[in-house]
Amino acid sequence: MGNYWRPATLEAALRILGEESPRPLAGGTDVYPALAQAAAWGAAEAPALLDLTGIAALRGVTRRGGVWRIGALTPWAALRDAPPAPGFRALAEAAAQVGGRQIQARGTIGGNLCNASPAADGVPPLLILDASVELASRRGQRVLPLRAFLLGNRRTARAPDEILTAILVPVEAAEAPSVFLKLGARRHLVISIAMVAASANGRVAVGACSEVARLWEEGVAPIGDVRASADYRRAAAEELVARARARLAA
Ligand SMILES: Cc1cc2nc3c(=O)[nH]c(=O)nc-3n(C[C@H](O)[C@H](O)[C@H](O)COP(=O)(O)OP(=O)(O)OC[C@H]3O[C@@H](n4cnc5c(N)ncnc54)[C@H](O)[C@@H]3O)c2cc1C
Repeated sequence: MGNYWRPATLEAALRILGEESPRPLAGGTDVYPALAQAAAWGAAEAPALLDLTGIAALRGVTRRGGVWRIGALTPWAALRDAPPAPGFRALAEAAAQVGGRQIQARGTIGGNLCNASPAADGVPPLLILDASVELASRRGQRVLPLRAFLLGNRRTARAPDEILTAILVPVEAAEAPSVFLKLGARRHLVISIAMVAASANGRVAVGACSEVARLWEEGVAPIGDVRASADYRRAAAEELVARARARLAA
């Protein structure tokens, strides 16, 4: 087993990350399955891990002036149970469909974004909220639009010495109600074939149809893979968008 740290402050975490380069660990619901898979394929040694769950300041949703701040370590269960404004409804509905209750209790919104799966259910609800991400390192802090943070399949703009500390949402973007719809091969515990988040303010985002989820107005050129063909995904996305708009209208 590699080294393991569980600091209580962000400052300590950034120092360890800068000096030792361990892999950040939040809920572990992506990290541990990936490590188990690597071990099954003969990986010699587990990587050093920097467990962020001891840093209380990275959890919870707060409002400061014109901005909602979602701590990166906030678990899905908290987002599911207490959406703080009508525009967070889509994120709450996505949270309720991420894995099962155990995954929702353990998995975090920050881990979902940093893992950068094309099927990450957290991304479309945050795109329609015009979200940004806050990154910290010993060099300082920076804020990036979510769309600039997600670069591709499992690729983000996070530098190796940075920790995702929060997701920022303008208060006015969260005022209109929103909905989330997800299509998978079965009803529960499923990876999305297509998913849609839509806001009553007109913003619509589609996920699992391209390397990175996109706003519907940008157009989607769906991918085909083991879960669905490109044609099926296109039809599914169009249907989900229509249903989401109908739900909002009702
Ligand atoms: C059974 C099962 C079902 C699942 N179902 C779904 C689903 O329906 N929808 C879905 O979207 N996902 C699903 N997932 C994937 C996973 O649960 C989510 O992506 C979850 O949000 C990951 O969060 P985590 O805190 O567990 O991340 P971790 O596994 O701890 O970390 C994920 C990645 O992000 C990095 N990281 C984490 N936090 C930070 C941070 N603050 N700063 C910098 N880097 C960080 C880690 O180094 C790692 O690379 C499922 C997983 C399992 C095992």
